[in-house]
Amino acid sequence: MSRLMGQMMQMPLMISSLLTHAARHSADTEIVSKRVEGDIHRYTYRDAELRARKLAQALARLGCEMGDRIGTLAWNGYRHFEIYYGTSGSGLVCHTINPRLFPEQIAWIINDAEDRVLCFDLNFLPLVEKLAPTLRTVQHFVLMSDPAHMPAQTSLSGLLCYEELVEAEDGQYTWPQFDENTASSICYTSGTTGHPKGAVYSHRSTVLHAYASALPDAMGCSAQDVILPVVPMFHVNAWGLPYSAALVGAKLVLPGPHLDGKSLYELFETEKVTFSAGVPTVWLGLINHAKQHNLKFSTFKRTVIGGSACPPSMLRTLEDDFGVNVIHAWGMTELSPLGTLSKLKAKHLDLPLEAQRRILEKQGKVIYGIDMQIIGDDGQPLPWDGKSSGNLVVRGPWVIQSYFRRDESPLQDGWFPTGDVATIDPDGYMQITDRSKDVIKSGGEWISSIELENIAMAHPAVHEAAAIACKHPKWDERPLLVVVRKPGASLTREEMLAFYEGKIAKWQIPDDVVFVDEIPHTATGKIQKLKLREQFANHVLPT
Ligand code: ADP
Repeated sequence: MSRLMGQMMQMPLMISSLLTHAARHSADTEIVSKRVEGDIHRYTYRDAELRARKLAQALARLGCEMGDRIGTLAWNGYRHFEIYYGTSGSGLVCHTINPRLFPEQIAWIINDAEDRVLCFDLNFLPLVEKLAPTLRTVQHFVLMSDPAHMPAQTSLSGLLCYEELVEAEDGQYTWPQFDENTASSICYTSGTTGHPKGAVYSHRSTVLHAYASALPDAMGCSAQDVILPVVPMFHVNAWGLPYSAALVGAKLVLPGPHLDGKSLYELFETEKVTFSAGVPTVWLGLINHAKQHNLKFSTFKRTVIGGSACPPSMLRTLEDDFGVNVIHAWGMTELSPLGTLSKLKAKHLDLPLEAQRRILEKQGKVIYGIDMQIIGDDGQPLPWDGKSSGNLVVRGPWVIQSYFRRDESPLQDGWFPTGDVATIDPDGYMQITDRSKDVIKSGGEWISSIELENIAMAHPAVHEAAAIACKHPKWDERPLLVVVRKPGASLTREEMLAFYEGKIAKWQIPDDVVFVDEIPHTATGKIQKLKLREQFANHVLPT
């Protein structure tokens, strides 16, 4: 018997369609950028789409062909936005590179991806000059600036000027249609152990991710929003915001390298930002600045916080003191990155505020498209009871199937193992207890480092805290708390430990507290637990 097929148009999901849609339906909606140079640049989706077409022409003129990788070392800005669309839209692959990585790692990544062109912001010129002799595949270096900012002297031979390239073209270019499974961009994981691995996104995965993450119970993006992604375009495509903003026609505000509390606050106010997204550490800076100067936000209403656990105290401060709703989210490079976000269901609306908050503090429900499970040590799925904790595995159309040029599959029975340990409650709210390599194993019992950190962060004298495993002769491992005090605040070891009493079981309370001036962070703003564990490898716990 012949099967009846759907009789709908076959239209591939193309990244270029997001921008052409924005240029047609939100033509005069602005994209505002604070440039590396410090000034403000503003134009519209109509302008951006034309310039993305010109860039596609320019890259073709340089000899780039379908599938070629175009590297970027750049902050959040309109030229980076044009490169996102001009490369992917024309069948090239946008390879965003995290400039905060070590130079050797950056060179390794560029060589691994075999980037043919490298585009970079003005302030990365010295870095690129230093790396250039080790880059084996880059044929063209493009400085993302105008003729006035081109260096008089440089060791880069044939350095090209972005504005000259773009402005030499006429824009008579039609975005090509091709298989939606074609690679669109690559992002490398930070690779805390071993070499970084490349996640290769496709047009299809990117458009589906943009669709799903714009939904009301996800990021809830709309044409009424003014979106400022603090999260960098150089890591996991700024959580997809350059795509979802175009999809809904929201105004975009791109802060460049100006990410300190003062600069961000000014941009939030002058551009009337309603929605933002970033890792917890950036909010620490913004909150401190606003508190010190007794400032309030006039338009800023909600923010997604993820990348590391959002401490409940941060959620409360933003909501109670500043009227900003926090949407706690979880994801990873291998998930494009969004997996879960925490929003209430209708049945929760009548709950007391405290009960609602306990739900919102979790990492949240999956967005449609992502499927998750928690797996026990015996390899069997664990119940969704909010208590059983196991290894979190996921699958879905925007989850990687394999890494760039790696033969071995990361999947286990068709699921991607996230390396996170989590619980899931009967309503489907997932809560991360730890990265599996960060859990503290005390006498066969697991202590959640995130829970210990969340409690410490609620102490008014604590600026930042990290809980790590410390060797113990009897219990194998015991928790050690590393604390950065707020400037001018006083806090003793005993006061910190007393703060835990009544909040968790006695045996989970850290054995010791050490105070440091600074906690090391990774290139994506996460606490570097590995480094801390090395630093305190010989720490002797009090008996
Ligand atoms: P990296 O930047 O280290 O390459 P990712 O950006 O992919 O890695 O980070 C993914 C990891 O970050 C997750 O596996 C998880 O451990 C952690 N993470 C992300 N969001 C959260 C969150 N809301 N709460 C706790 N951990 C989180």
